[in-house]
Amino acid sequence: MIRVALLGATGSIGQSTLDVIRRNNEQYEVFAVSGHQRLTQLLSICQEFNPSLACVPESAAAEFQQQLRVVGCTTEVLCGTAGLEQLAAGSQVDVVVAAIVGAAGLLPTLAAVKAGKRILLANKEALVMSGALFMEAVERHGATLLPIDSEHNAIFQCLPVDFSRRSFVEQGIEKLLLTASGGPFRGWQREALLSVTPEQAVAHPNWSMGRKISVDSATLMNKGLELIEACWLFNVQPEAIQVVVHPQSIIHSMVSYRDGSVLAQLGNPDMRTPIAHALAWPERIHAGVKPLDLMSSAALTFEQADETAFPCLNLAREAFRLGGTAPATLNAANEVAVEAFLERRIRFTQIAEVIDRVLNLSKIRPANDLQLLLSEDRLARQLAQQVIGQFH
Ligand code: NAD
Ligand code: MG
Repeated sequence: MIRVALLGATGSIGQSTLDVIRRNNEQYEVFAVSGHQRLTQLLSICQEFNPSLACVPESAAAEFQQQLRVVGCTTEVLCGTAGLEQLAAGSQVDVVVAAIVGAAGLLPTLAAVKAGKRILLANKEALVMSGALFMEAVERHGATLLPIDSEHNAIFQCLPVDFSRRSFVEQGIEKLLLTASGGPFRGWQREALLSVTPEQAVAHPNWSMGRKISVDSATLMNKGLELIEACWLFNVQPEAIQVVVHPQSIIHSMVSYRDGSVLAQLGNPDMRTPIAHALAWPERIHAGVKPLDLMSSAALTFEQADETAFPCLNLAREAFRLGGTAPATLNAANEVAVEAFLERRIRFTQIAEVIDRVLNLSKIRPANDLQLLLSEDRLARQLAQQVIGQFH
């Protein structure tokens, strides 16, 4: 039995992971879960899977433990960031699924890395914030890092089996082609984007996801974060990554080789595929995903990303080039700006403005210390709130 700790069990990735495990319950056991909001849902997860451990926010721990007793669950409750770290690093855990959204996932994901776990990474923000430190820790502690972000998982599947992070050139790799759906506002001009609502922004055409990543997909910041994620995962520079808008989301990304070959991974847009792939790798298990029917699928089309109407992609690219703490600053400003947009405190187009201003106001430092990164994250959040305050 492979024991899984699922951080962010109540979220969209969490639900997809539970579904894959449900279908393969002779091989995988839900050993630990965490949830931040929607604790009623976490309670039903505990009733169904009876995990040994569950982690909730400190303020909810006593009541949650009580509710578990009432329904006859023997799950033990942990709480707070320390609890999450304990879940992720527990000696009985084989696989950690990092599916918390945003910077809140950084410390628990790093705890899993330092414990040398096999980590299924959905929480791209953790890697964006702390790239160098994160990858160094993976190496030092012998952790196995497998991406479940669909694009990165696709690239991973298209790379040579014995892919080494050391050199693209030696392996004949020319370029990574990172696909993007273009989000709900593909083709829209800047003027039209001024008045879009949170409801429009979270209605993604192809994928059903949490609210934050849905807004990121609409601004193209998701592709920007993914570009940084790919740079760290595969040890490349942004110049070696081409963003390709592919509205049907059937190709999930590609690798272009020196000899002219381009390898692609295709499938219906369903996160259970990359989750199942990474859970079982190098084997294959059932994911519950409908087989791809090419005869009835729409024509596959490709276009350039509109970086004028959607400046977030380039802001991310620039932050990676600036290096040091800049990506952590970008990420923090984005989290605050997305939240403010969802609360209707700023316009959609002001998300990019907030990030740009915060980056300009911030001093970039070398990112070789976790405490420094966390304090830069806090600082960038304060700056972002100040910038937002000045919009009114
Ligand atoms: P979601 O909002 O549906 O779920 C987020 C999870 O994180 C929930 O379980 C929530 O309780 C937990 N959480 C939120 N704030 C927390 C906090 N402060 N402390 C601890 N836990 C907290 O989000 P999602 O769509 O499942 O995305 C999760 C991560 O996976 C994100 O980093 C996202 O970018 C990435 N991702 C998601 C998809 C997708 O299809 N949903 C695809 C690729 C990558
Ligand atoms: Mg993705």
